[in-house]
Amino acid sequence: MATVVSFHAHPDDEALLTGGWLAQRAAAGDRVVLVFATDGGAGLTGADAGGLAVRRRAEAAASAHALGAAAVEWLGYADSGMAAMPSQGADRFTDAPVDAAARRLAALLDAEDADVLTGYDANGGYGHPDHVRVHHVARRARALTVRPPQLLEATRDRTWLVRGLALVRPFARVLPGLTLPAGEIYSTADQVTLRVDVRDQLTAKRAALAAHASQATGGVRTLALLRLLPAPVARRVLGTEWFVEAPPAA
Ligand SMILES: [Zn+2]
Repeated sequence: MATVVSFHAHPDDEALLTGGWLAQRAAAGDRVVLVFATDGGAGLTGADAGGLAVRRRAEAAASAHALGAAAVEWLGYADSGMAAMPSQGADRFTDAPVDAAARRLAALLDAEDADVLTGYDANGGYGHPDHVRVHHVARRARALTVRPPQLLEATRDRTWLVRGLALVRPFARVLPGLTLPAGEIYSTADQVTLRVDVRDQLTAKRAALAAHASQATGGVRTLALLRLLPAPVARRVLGTEWFVEAPPAA
């Protein structure tokens, strides 16, 4: 049995990007450990950052339970906020040197003797500064480990995404502030090295998504949009997950 350490920027990213695959690994008997860089204190709700961080930690624990993950770890940084709406304050993930954050993650990888690490693609998906940081920190952390794990970088197939967005556009009209990301996001189809059919784990993935209740209301978020989709459309949107396998550590 393998140990999978899944590294994410904020609580809810694990469910959206990797939830089905992690549930498959856990169901197959692997040890799955979730690691969050930040507590998501800049997520969109009316709550103050401190109260929101406490709530999002509890939601992460519930999501981990739904996915069958054995443990949840925190690197202890603050959410940096979106590029257009940065958070203020101390200990933001993007202010920490990559090496310092990577050492914290590498210590966890060594303690777990991890076989597989998940990070994010080079674009940080849709380009959230914390997600771009996860890409660099995961790669650096792997290089610092005693026994470098396989590194799978969670992504989406950009071509598929553009097609999918056309499909959900009629529903997006009810979310007025929804702006679709432009330019270099996620990965091209030929960059994707692992496409996983996760339809057998949709119940677990939905439960993990539902655990992040603070992110489903009060803002224009992917989770809010997903809740509005008719079942067959949601099944298509949630039923595949994508990874780029990073080249072996030097
Ligand atoms: Zn995120």
